[in-house]
Amino acid sequence: MFIDSHCHFDFELFDDQRDSLMSRCLAAGVAGFLVPATTRNRWQKLQNLTSEYSHWRAAYGLHPYFLSGSYLSDIELLGDQCEKAHAIGVGEIGLDNWPGAVDMELQMAFFTRQLYVAKALELPVILHARKSYDLVLKCLRETGFFHGGTVHAFNGSLEQAQRFLDFGFVLGIGGTITYPRAKKAHRVLKALGDADFVLETDSPDMPLHAYQGQVNTPLSILIIAQHIATIREDNIEKIRALTYANLLRIFPKWYEDSL
Ligand SMILES: [Zn+2]
Repeated sequence: MFIDSHCHFDFELFDDQRDSLMSRCLAAGVAGFLVPATTRNRWQKLQNLTSEYSHWRAAYGLHPYFLSGSYLSDIELLGDQCEKAHAIGVGEIGLDNWPGAVDMELQMAFFTRQLYVAKALELPVILHARKSYDLVLKCLRETGFFHGGTVHAFNGSLEQAQRFLDFGFVLGIGGTITYPRAKKAHRVLKALGDADFVLETDSPDMPLHAYQGQVNTPLSILIIAQHIATIREDNIEKIRALTYANLLRIFPKWYEDSL
């Protein structure tokens, strides 16, 4: 099966089409969904949906771009939430150096504290890092975080990729590589080893080339995988098998005590 390692299938946008979309995904062979949390007030809904849909797995955390309604005290609840909801990771967490995001000092406080929670629980993390790879790596080093995880929507250089790989991470490859002009991303993808990446859509965001303006869904995993196969001169079945193996290596709790 194909696994979407990063989709926001819990968002309201999907509320009235989630069941039918799930059926279409399963029929198409997209049968695993890792859904990372964004804000504290969405944790319970994510937990409910994860117990309803047996193909879902969840990570809990506070997304760096949506911190304005969050409190550092929310992090005191994170460990309990992960345990009671059988989280397979902590996320999505990180640093977002983008207009509109809260102050970077505050983001770093949220990020490092959540890294310590993940470290204490021995859980991998789902990293959101926008224009912040060096700072994110610095935080990983300073917290001594070596449980790995995924770098969501990786779009850096091969050198930056290698530094995350050295920390035990794999790179999330998504819709960006479907754009013909994404030459650098294509070059990096081609140079990666078979063990270095997983598939993701970031649904409902990050539409594919030729689908701009439409709601992205986990069904896009099939198109992304086909593009990866073409760029790496492999067949899609090999991409399916290796990304599945990579995901299970990084998230060993995938088949453990699901809800
Ligand atoms: Zn996301």
